Amino acid sequence: PLEPLTVRAEAVVDLAAIRHNVAALRSRVESAQLMTVVKADGYGHGMIPVARAAREAGADWIGAAVLDEALSLRAAGDTGPIFCWLTTPGEPVAEAIAAGIDLSAAAPWEIAELAEAVTDRPARVHLKIDTGMSRGGAVPEEWPALLRAAQLEEKAGRIEIVGIWSHLASSDEPKSPVNEAQLVNFVSAIDVAASLGVDPPLKHLANSGGTLALPETHFDLVRPGIATYGLSPFGHALPSSELGLRPAMTLRARLAMVKRVPAGAGVSYGLTWTAPRPSTLGLIPLGYGDGLPRHASNSAPVQVAGRRRGIVGRICMDQCVVNLEDDEAMAGDAVVLFGAGANGEPTADDWADAAQTINYEIVTRLGARVPRRYV
Ligand code: PLP
Repeated sequence: PLEPLTVRAEAVVDLAAIRHNVAALRSRVESAQLMTVVKADGYGHGMIPVARAAREAGADWIGAAVLDEALSLRAAGDTGPIFCWLTTPGEPVAEAIAAGIDLSAAAPWEIAELAEAVTDRPARVHLKIDTGMSRGGAVPEEWPALLRAAQLEEKAGRIEIVGIWSHLASSDEPKSPVNEAQLVNFVSAIDVAASLGVDPPLKHLANSGGTLALPETHFDLVRPGIATYGLSPFGHALPSSELGLRPAMTLRARLAMVKRVPAGAGVSYGLTWTAPRPSTLGLIPLGYGDGLPRHASNSAPVQVAGRRRGIVGRICMDQCVVNLEDDEAMAGDAVVLFGAGANGEPTADDWADAAQTINYEIVTRLGARVPRRYV
């Protein structure tokens, strides 16, 4: 049970749930190592506390997208393996190499940039192949040139080829033929590398969807993100409870005001909702400035005093309005916007439906104005 709320709003992050999810993910993989992905401030949950909880629960690796994240993890005292996969020309890769952060390269010029940044120890590099998503990665025609460039620098002692990796486009649909096609391309890229004498210890492909539903994608290391936070990559098709995962975040607030309005009262900008009968309205002091999706206007559910109620009218920058119908309520009462769902409260998936997006976006976009409290 959550303590009474004394602040405007807070996101309560259950680190025991994070640890549980990391352990659950570990138990899903046989011999592969586990990388917990904490990019984008731990999908909104707080990067450093999540990384610590993940390490405690046995994560072998921490995954970050951008350099600032990886460097912040080291600065916070994380001394374990860290992989950072999205660098941009001119970024301070020398700092990352010196800090022992593993980096990704997908083109000979990236290999050159890393090799030139090396000072006292070789850059640890994972070579990225594009297996069909057309995002990062070397396309198959460029793959041999990338391998040769990496091999030359390895011989010169400036880089160490640690991994070959790629990313799945459609693992949220485990039955999609795209998964098999990407797997075939990945294996063939590994074969091409081996034929040139490149056979690094870490081949990795799986995100949460792959980790949970496609064991053939596990290879030496899996990289789940969303499942760490107890959210399902499959949305309602396979809810987190059925996957043995516990959603870690609860977003709650206190009503800033409660008022009774007559039938016909229009609500919020544009008066897009009109009370069909006399109604009690509650003012929630959270809006799109806090990361609530404005697309969820007039549709998102919340829970007040154990009852499901709906957001009415447009979500504003700092506030939104809930229709409390004929409930007894007063300013200061607690509202749960989303949580694990175990007590009937809406979930991040319910908000995702209301905003026509995915649960990832609901938690990740939660802004810095909402304090995180760790339990
Ligand atoms: N690996 C890479 C390269 C990613 O970009 C991401 C996130 O999108 C992940 C792993 C984790 O994905 P998910 O949150 O779907 O598990």
